[in-house]
Amino acid sequence: MTVTDSHPGHGAPATPERPVRPPRADRSNGQWKVDGTVPLNPNETWKQEDGGLNVRERIESIYSKEGFASIPPQDLSGRFRWWGLYTQRRPGIDGGRTAQLDDSELSDEYFMLRVRLDGGALTLEQLHTVADISREFARDTADISDRQNIQYHWIRVEDVPEIWRRLEAVGLQTTEACGDTPRVILGSPLAGIAKDEILDPTPVIDEILERFIGDPELANLPRKFKSAITGHPSLDVVHEINDISLVGVLHPELGPGYDLWVGGGLSTSPRLAERLGVFVAPDAAADVWHGVIRVFRDYGYRRLRNKARLKFLLAEWGPARFREVLETEYLGRALPDGPAPAPASGPGDHVGVHEQKDGRFYIGAAPVVGRISGSVLAGLADLLEAAGSDRLRLTPHQKLVVLDVPADRVDATVAGLEDLGLTTAPSPFRRNTMACTGIEFCKLAIVETKATAAATIAELERRLADVTPQLGRPISLNVNGCPNSCARIQVADIGLKGQIVTVDTADGPAQVPGFQVHLGGGLASADRDEAGLGRTVRGLKVTADELPDYVERVVRTFLDQRIDGESFSE
Ligand code: SF4
Repeated sequence: MTVTDSHPGHGAPATPERPVRPPRADRSNGQWKVDGTVPLNPNETWKQEDGGLNVRERIESIYSKEGFASIPPQDLSGRFRWWGLYTQRRPGIDGGRTAQLDDSELSDEYFMLRVRLDGGALTLEQLHTVADISREFARDTADISDRQNIQYHWIRVEDVPEIWRRLEAVGLQTTEACGDTPRVILGSPLAGIAKDEILDPTPVIDEILERFIGDPELANLPRKFKSAITGHPSLDVVHEINDISLVGVLHPELGPGYDLWVGGGLSTSPRLAERLGVFVAPDAAADVWHGVIRVFRDYGYRRLRNKARLKFLLAEWGPARFREVLETEYLGRALPDGPAPAPASGPGDHVGVHEQKDGRFYIGAAPVVGRISGSVLAGLADLLEAAGSDRLRLTPHQKLVVLDVPADRVDATVAGLEDLGLTTAPSPFRRNTMACTGIEFCKLAIVETKATAAATIAELERRLADVTPQLGRPISLNVNGCPNSCARIQVADIGLKGQIVTVDTADGPAQVPGFQVHLGGGLASADRDEAGLGRTVRGLKVTADELPDYVERVVRTFLDQRIDGESFSE
């Protein structure tokens, strides 16, 4: 089980899934370049009046000194996100009441604080710092999200300036970790070290960070903007579900570079990204990224928040028009046509022990039931030190990769990881199960997710040990606490969408936590050429208690009925 980047966005309601359709053409949709910049709703109004980045000064000079009660609502539930801060769910509120309460009633006085780790990269010094902050200020919490971030809980506003000071002293930041901004840039965890890498995306990630993160010109987007860049042939950054992805390819004449994808996203209106068909040379990649984000800023829909992601604009324009606008209005030149990436060369989670191109080794490990603590991170830092490694990477598949381990330290490092509960040989169920934050901390949650997923994994490992070797590719199970799909409901073999379900009991109908079932989705992988969105199985709901029974039935039925080794998605 994993922890995902929680919270779909400011005030996003938990609504049923619906297809991506552009908004009506006969009225203003709030596109700045079409309709002008007059704000069409309260959210756009406060963003224009006082940008989210400006709240930092008030946190440092006022709120951290005068305490939680001094924070006005528009900063608390709005601008704080530009610095990675969300209020967390007040403990003890039943999931059935989530939709009946407003944000202030659901909110606790503590915060989730998200630290952006672009490319998932941490040095040993940074690892020590995030571990220390967790233990000192966050009650030993330090979730690793599926977007290569670290998320703390139980943060007090009084401690935020000191946390920033410590993070920034080692080159880390929470700038634009949430909010309508360019969020963390996913990057290949094997950047610069893999033998089979097409090209190293690190210079592009660094250039975007340096030039554009924290730029006020890009800090009022219609909604969040998710980026991913990889040069590894395993396609390891879930490129189909980001607003922009740059995927490493080898052009027959122009050499290594990137294939550009835009407009992916899940949530309640899922849509896979599309290729624009262009080749992006490495030294042009940051400028192309800048062009795409400005297309989104200027043409994205701002009237309705639930139509404000880039995928809705792409649904209206299509890739050809998007490319034309990008080239003519933003880049001032045509981009060359380019090839599509080859099918994924292998699993993108990088679990296990593998040789690097310099002869040392990288070791990928899976956390047990997702949650990592500050204490575990401190233990990891000790392990890295003992192995002579200075680098750890987090993956978008919720794993950890220790880099640069000499051959004679591999066995000891693997054993040390096991001692920390970070196995390098996870069961298929542990390896491929994700769960979002759920009711423990998320204000939008309807059901508990993490403990449910953990218990389900343990049960499946016990019950299905006899058939596990026959499974081949692990079946993915993604557990979500509401319809917002932070844990990618639609791209799992079995996606679960939290809701209250009614069951018959001896005392009559009762309402209990459960899930709507969604089957057959997946991202491109070594045994699946293309990503696909699964489908909701109408009327099929399971209670949380029944989940292990349900998954066991699905797995056994699949194994009984499959033909010629077909995969679950087939
Ligand atoms: Fe996201 Fe889960 Fe919270 Fe819903 S319950 S908003 S899916 S973290």
